[in-house]
Amino acid sequence: MEETKTKGQELAEELFWSAPHIAKKAPAQIEEADRFCEGYKKFLDRGKTERECVRYAVELLEENGYRPFDEKGSYGPGDKVYTVNRGKALIATTFGTESLEKGVRINGAHIDSPRLDLKPAPVYEKDELSYLKTHYYGGLRKYQWGATPLAIHGVAVRKDGTTVEICIGEKEGDPVFCITDLLPHLAGKQSERPLKEGLRGEELNLVIGSVPYQDEEVKEPFKLLALQLLHEQYQITEKDFFRAEIEIVPAVKAVDVGLDRSMIGAYGQDDRVCAYTGLMAEIETVKPAHTTVTILTDKEEIGSAGDTGLDSDYLLHYIEDLAAMEGVPVRKVLRASVCLSSDVNAAFDPTFPDVFEKRNACQINHGCVLTKYTGARGKSSSNDARAELMAQVIQIMEEEGVYWQAGEMGKVDEGGGGTIARFVARMDIETVDLGVPILSMHAPFELASKLDVLSAYKAFKVFYR
Ligand code: MN
Ligand code: MN
Repeated sequence: MEETKTKGQELAEELFWSAPHIAKKAPAQIEEADRFCEGYKKFLDRGKTERECVRYAVELLEENGYRPFDEKGSYGPGDKVYTVNRGKALIATTFGTESLEKGVRINGAHIDSPRLDLKPAPVYEKDELSYLKTHYYGGLRKYQWGATPLAIHGVAVRKDGTTVEICIGEKEGDPVFCITDLLPHLAGKQSERPLKEGLRGEELNLVIGSVPYQDEEVKEPFKLLALQLLHEQYQITEKDFFRAEIEIVPAVKAVDVGLDRSMIGAYGQDDRVCAYTGLMAEIETVKPAHTTVTILTDKEEIGSAGDTGLDSDYLLHYIEDLAAMEGVPVRKVLRASVCLSSDVNAAFDPTFPDVFEKRNACQINHGCVLTKYTGARGKSSSNDARAELMAQVIQIMEEEGVYWQAGEMGKVDEGGGGTIARFVARMDIETVDLGVPILSMHAPFELASKLDVLSAYKAFKVFYR
């Protein structure tokens, strides 16, 4: 029987729009996404800190013909360079066929994630256990970090100036560490605390040992044994923690989630999901029209502050160097440039629907998410992209069949957030947020859909085309 549509149905088809479920609309992408995400999982496992991400990214860039940027060099279309900012942030470029007067195409993601940092004097013992004191970094829900296996990652600089890389809890056979929590039988009082105080900041103490150094004369034998073991392995002393950056991160590896293996569960997907997809898009760009500027930045989770965050001028200085090479005024380059601030957004969670406004929340498996504005309480501190830029980005994605959706960070006045967008926009560069929907964002184990990861990669690729 021939199905005929009513006039109203036809009109609705013409006038309504909502982002489709990719698996329904393009089931062939399921396998493609699955394959693409194997590399992504490896990236997550290799890079649990910003320094590790930079190191692995440099490895991938070098393998693909990138060389350290030399501001006195001269480059032609298709040439590939990178520069590292203090081991913790990175910029990669493929030179375009157009003059820099036409602007550059920027894609910026961040590679720092919420975690527990060690305090400067972290080692102590209490009642026959040895511990490390932490100070949390970024917005995290402290109660989620108790009773879960944790690993120690970081660097310490010794007295002689040499830097030692520390990593315990990742290799097969490594010990792990943890923060203890109360048993329910004795948690009556603790359970009445507000959730945000389930575990308090000064309760985030990492257990690192329970056996003493064998000497009756030593005052702190448990602390001493811990320090002796660290000294044996890394030749560091208590003083070296004052010249260190050591991060406590979940000891779990990236894994498939679901019977259908449609999702990835891992620590640090905010925002390494955009770092990886952005990096892959950068690497695969051959001879673009506009010169590309792919940024993996640090410190986004604490407001982009510091010399490796985008509130510093390191990006501006890099573009100044590019402009000077071609003898173009840098403001001309900036004004003509476009930036994707690639960062994640909060995916609609069916278990907690109340905090979302469903029509304007992103949903997993509906594609990469274009976020016109972030901010909180009346878009405060938001970049709020221009309609014309939204149109431009939507057009290039649709020309290439990239699945996309719009997203807002929760209900109005429910919460909010910020990204690197405003720091790039402040340089007179048109900027919009584009990223991946995430469930359990900022938790030790975050969820992303493989189809969305693939969509973000495709979007970043067409942006550089
Ligand atoms: Mn982020
Ligand atoms: Mn974040």
